[in-house]
Amino acid sequence: IVEFEDVNKYFGQTHVLKDVSMEVEEQEVTVIIGPSGSGKSTLLRCTNRLEEIQSGQIRLDGDAISASDADVDQLRQRIGMVFQSFNLFPHMTAKENIMLGPTEVKGIPEEEASERAESLIDKVGLGDQGDSYPEELSGGQQQRVAIARALAMDPDVMLFDEVTSALDPELVGEVLDVMEDLATGGMTMLVVTHEMGFAREVGDTITLMSDGKIAERRPAAEFFEQPQTERGQEFLSRLL
Ligand code: ATP
Ligand code: MG
Repeated sequence: IVEFEDVNKYFGQTHVLKDVSMEVEEQEVTVIIGPSGSGKSTLLRCTNRLEEIQSGQIRLDGDAISASDADVDQLRQRIGMVFQSFNLFPHMTAKENIMLGPTEVKGIPEEEASERAESLIDKVGLGDQGDSYPEELSGGQQQRVAIARALAMDPDVMLFDEVTSALDPELVGEVLDVMEDLATGGMTMLVVTHEMGFAREVGDTITLMSDGKIAERRPAAEFFEQPQTERGQEFLSRLL
């Protein structure tokens, strides 16, 4: 459903993505791992057109995401993204945050958006917290609101960039559980994370980035059993 074909990205002279090609299937969970600076965030940001690429193609369901005449607003509705920082609007309740996109961008009637927001609040395990303001919520709860907000746009694909990295350790699990539920429900996901338990259990495919390239990409079970590249072996040995 998401195809990357010889994607190249430069920041000035710095070559950040180098001939990146991969295909993420519908309902697949791809976990992207690799050292700091290897291009993981950039790859996700290019997928959501937060960054432009200089050559190659990124396609969503056959539509060129990276084309200069692509309808960026429409594409972003089809690709939800959640970041390390939750970026909720502080003056709005959890529910209002979740309703904003559907009502303002998609023009969905208030009542319908409200019902949908409530069901999403339940889905991320925040049944009683819909009327709470972000500052009244823990980091883990805020991040679950951010996930619900992205889901409210009914995306085809969800991108997650280190969404648990800023959380206290005891709050990581509740966010990963929501992501696992989503994966089980068949959502197509690209997930940058350092949580190797999640990668192994929930990931279908591991993509190891190194210096702007895909060093290795294979089914999660195979990768953790026996990586086929030196980079992969190095990466795993550092985890042990
Ligand atoms: P981390 O694990 O630390 O989040 P990453 O794999 O996500 O790292 P990226 O953030 O994608 O790495 O960065 C890849 C490279 O691109 C790095 O060399 C970084 O310095 C560079 N880079 C990223 N964003 C910019 C920017 N806006 N301007 C210039 N260079 C950038
Ligand atoms: Mg990053």
